[in-house]
Amino acid sequence: MQKENHTLSQDEELQPIPDGLVVLTFDDGNKSDYTYVGPLLKYYGFGATFFITEGLGFLDNKDHYVTWEEIRELHDEGFEIGNHTRYHKHANTQSKEELLADLIHIDERCKEHGIPVPETFGYPADCRGPEAIEALTEKGYRFARRGIGPDFPFHPEGGRGPAYDPNVQHPLVIPSTGVPGPNYKFEDLVWAVEQAKDGKIAVLTFHGVPALEHPWVDTPPELFETYMDYLRDKNCTVVALRDLANYVDPTKSTGRDITYWP
Ligand SMILES: [Zn+2]
Repeated sequence: MQKENHTLSQDEELQPIPDGLVVLTFDDGNKSDYTYVGPLLKYYGFGATFFITEGLGFLDNKDHYVTWEEIRELHDEGFEIGNHTRYHKHANTQSKEELLADLIHIDERCKEHGIPVPETFGYPADCRGPEAIEALTEKGYRFARRGIGPDFPFHPEGGRGPAYDPNVQHPLVIPSTGVPGPNYKFEDLVWAVEQAKDGKIAVLTFHGVPALEHPWVDTPPELFETYMDYLRDKNCTVVALRDLANYVDPTKSTGRDITYWP
């Protein structure tokens, strides 16, 4: 019998989005990414994206922020390193050229340390305008993550946001389904996981566990562990942002909603 020479198209390689698909992201390169979160997620077998910036206290306060060597180790452990820009400036205040230069700076630092050039982006302070999205498109990012607003009410100490529906939102404006902080509780995490069904994905945006310099986005380790236990007990599929490429082809995504904020 002649073997059929069948080439899979990209569409056929995509997997259906399972219920309970959860993306974990951690912003700003808090020291706990390396000392606590990475090892704990390895224990659970979960993926995650760490969004790195050389802004905030990264260059001056190495007690509170990871080093590039530690970022390299997170990469070696299988985690994704995403781009959070050189200075953590609000992207809606920058020209396209300025933002591109700040993105390329992080790319270069990654290359120097044997880390792949990031293929995903997190908006610093969730600020975004048309030029930012043009810059990300031009640079070829596949996925970029925003915060909860404007469709959910912004709270400075965290809160709930929309689930990501690839048929609705643009892949470069993926919402956060939850931004834990003092205003975020276990029932909010349960709610986020409940949204992850029927083709929708829960995307969680953490900062430090704990966030020593930014208490308004802090998550205490003991609470974080109850979250991770819950994801495990619910048999969630817990991945990095880049892993969405297994389920969503960003070049063919029908989701076109772009929201500028603030
Ligand atoms: Zn940030």
